[in-house]
This record gives sequence, structure tokens and C-alpha cells, in this order.
Amino acid sequence: MARIVMKFGGTSMAGTERIRGVAARVKREVDAGNQVAVVVSAMAGETDRLVGFCREASPLADPREYDVVVAAGEQITAGLLAIALQAAGLPARSWLGWQLPIHSSSAHSVARIEGIDTDAVMAAMAKGEVAVVPGFQGVSDDGRITTLGRGGSDTSAVALAAALKADRCDIYTDVDGVYTTDPRIVPRARKLARITYEEMLELASVGAKVLQTRSVELAMKEKVRVQVLSSFSDAPGTMLVDEDEDGNTIMERELIAGVAYDRNEAKVTLVGVPDRPGVVAAIFGPLADANINVDMIVQNIAKAERTTDVTFTVPRTQLPRSLDVLDKAKDSIGFIQVLSDDAVAKISVVGVGMRSHAGVAVTMFRALADRGINIQAITTSEIKVSVIIAEEYVELAVRVLHTAYGLDAPAEVVA
Ligand code: ADP
Ligand code: ASP
Ligand code: MG
Repeated sequence: MARIVMKFGGTSMAGTERIRGVAARVKREVDAGNQVAVVVSAMAGETDRLVGFCREASPLADPREYDVVVAAGEQITAGLLAIALQAAGLPARSWLGWQLPIHSSSAHSVARIEGIDTDAVMAAMAKGEVAVVPGFQGVSDDGRITTLGRGGSDTSAVALAAALKADRCDIYTDVDGVYTTDPRIVPRARKLARITYEEMLELASVGAKVLQTRSVELAMKEKVRVQVLSSFSDAPGTMLVDEDEDGNTIMERELIAGVAYDRNEAKVTLVGVPDRPGVVAAIFGPLADANINVDMIVQNIAKAERTTDVTFTVPRTQLPRSLDVLDKAKDSIGFIQVLSDDAVAKISVVGVGMRSHAGVAVTMFRALADRGINIQAITTSEIKVSVIIAEEYVELAVRVLHTAYGLDAPAEVVA
């Protein structure tokens, strides 16, 4: 007997028929003798709809009330799944975030899970009851409902698996595993049987939304065994593994685990910034104070008149606020002009093989140059290279890089 957490995403929960399908999958695990807790997302599109209502009601909605509204989608699917499980003959009940409770910080809409009380739910599971837990939500110390950031149900599932000391956390979604890139963009993307936590963490953080970044971070820290699987087929999924656990496979594999893209960034350039100590702090200090997360930074060399240009990226939704902050700090920074462009995208290649092989970045630069795609900014980490390009070339760039790194699956033989 194992104790497992099964998580079902929005597409898997979209409508009664699919929820019945989820109940059938849960039943299989229960019938095999396992103790099961299920974490559910809201139906696909529901969270966006709820966010829309909040924006309509007021662009400056109280974040505490915003969370009350957007957390509601998961309450519905949790109740519906418990009903469907009961209809399938299984004892089941829902446990809302405040009922368990799932303690979180009070950073509304981006709250972090701080701990989960599991005594009651463990006792119920030990009696053979299936626990159904809405993802994405928690409760703060002052008793307010919180949400964990978009895609946060993955993090709820991993956190619950850690708290329950579960043997496995199975993430069921609308693709049957982690691919070398988004299979919806590149039909020849290949499914990875295994991927290291570190690679998955980088891929998620640069845009591969198959898992929320924080869920991978948490799985790594808490040593939770995570698997990504399909809700709609029985194909084997992708297992997250430690690098040493996977030594041989990784060494024999291609250098690059995957290619990811992110359309959520915008580029800002400050022209004519004085080239003197402290100026970079004068730019990024006010942005940090406004809780704006700067990603890439490029500073050009100084020109004869001892000024320079500084380019960086911010989340696209925060571009207007960033420009406002910079405008207010104009006198202390001393730039001549600010330029911005939100029609950009970030393309990244990720792989632990980069540690031991030179030339990975050059392959990227050449492949993009061959297609006439201009690179506007570059950053690298030990296992990742990212570039900013014009948004119109995203799909082309992803496909070209996928081919350049030899990741394409063999073309299907046409009969
Ligand atoms: P869920 O609602 O189940 O949480 P998401 O939409 O959040 O599902 O994540 C699954 C989606 O992630 C897939 O439909 C796919 O388009 C996208 N995706 C992006 N990159 C990858 C990748 N490398 N491998 C698999 N899926 C990916
Ligand atoms: N429903 C939430 C969202 O759409 C959380 C999730 O599905 O993971 O972001
Ligand atoms: Mg998701």
C-alpha cells in the first residue's frame, strides 16, 4: 500500500464528464489498495473568468477580496469531485484550504504555503476515505483566504504530498508528460521519460508552464517524488529525478533537455544614463521597492560623453507601473530617454549537459541568425541560455532551436 497525492489540472476537471473520468482514475488507485488525497484545479478558463469579474468590479480590487473570488473555482471542483467519487462508491469528502488548514503567508495572490495540518485528513484517509483538496488556496494567520499565484495547484499538490509524507505526487494534466518543448508548438517535440529537478526548475522558471516553478522548488527541497502524466491516456509519464540518480541517462542524452518560451516580458531601455558608480542601484532600487521583478539586465559600455544605455526586462503586466516608477526616479537616475517594447519574448534552452560542454550558446546564436532573428538581450546561468527576441518570431525560434539541438522526434513514416 502506498500513500499518494493525485493532482488534476483545469482541462482534466472541465465538466461533469471529465470529473467522472477523474473519479474513475482515483478509484483505480484506491482499488489497488492505496491511500489517496486528490488536489484539484478549477475548470479550465474559470480562474480567468473570475479574475475578469474582479477587474470589472474595480481595477484596484482589494487583494484580500480578489483572493476570495478567484479561489472559488477550486471550491466548486473539489465538491463536484467528492460527489462523483461518492457516486462511484467511494467514501470521499472535500477539505477546503481553511478547513485543513493550509497555512500560508498573507501575500495575497502570491501567497506561500507555510504548513499544512494533516492530523484530521490522515485519520480520514487511514479509514479509507478519499480526501479532495482544492488547489491554489490557503488561509493566512489572520484567517483570510489566500491564493498561491497562477498555476498554483501544482504547488498545493507537492506541499500536501510533503506534509502527508506521500510516496508519490502524480500530476495529471492535458499532455502525457514533460516534453523537449511545448508539444502544442512543436509537434515533433519528444516526451522525456525522466528530467532532473534542476532542469525542470529552470524550464518552469523560463516559461514551460507544465509545472508551476514553486512546485518544483518545493519538490526538490522536500524530496517529493513527482511524476507528470495524462488525465486522458495511460501512457507512461515523466519522472522528476536527482541528477546523480540519473547519471548515466543524462550523460548519454542530448546536451539540452528542452526549449521554453515566455511571452510575459517587456523590455525597457534607459538611454543616456550617466556612467558612474551607484547609477544601477538608482535604477533598480525604486523598481525593487515597487515589488517589480527585473529579469534580464544589459548595460552597454560607456560612450565618449560618459553615458551608457541600460536595457532590462520586467513582467509585461508591470510595464506601465515600471515606466511610472522610472519617470518618478528620473532626476535621481539622470537618463535622457526611456524606450519600451512589450512585443518581445524570451526563448531559453536548458540542460545540465551545458556544464561540461562548450558551444551550447553559439549553436543558439547561429541558429537564430540563420533565420534572420535578431537577439536583443542575452542571459546565461550554469544550465541555461536565454535570449530576448521580437515576439512575432517566437514559434519559429522555438522550432529552429529544437531542430538545431537535435531534439526533433523522427518524422513519422507516411504510409
Ligand atoms: P494544468 O491545467 O493541468 O495545470 P497547464 O496548462 O498548466 O495544465 O500545463 C500544461 C500545458 O503546458 C500543456 O498543455 C502544454 O501546452 C504546456 N507546456 C509548455 N511547455 C511544455 C513542455 N515542455 N512539456 C509539456 N507541456 C508543456
Ligand atoms: N486555477 C488556478 C489557475 O488557473 C490554479 C491552477 O490551475 O493551478 O491559475
Ligand atoms: Mg498548470
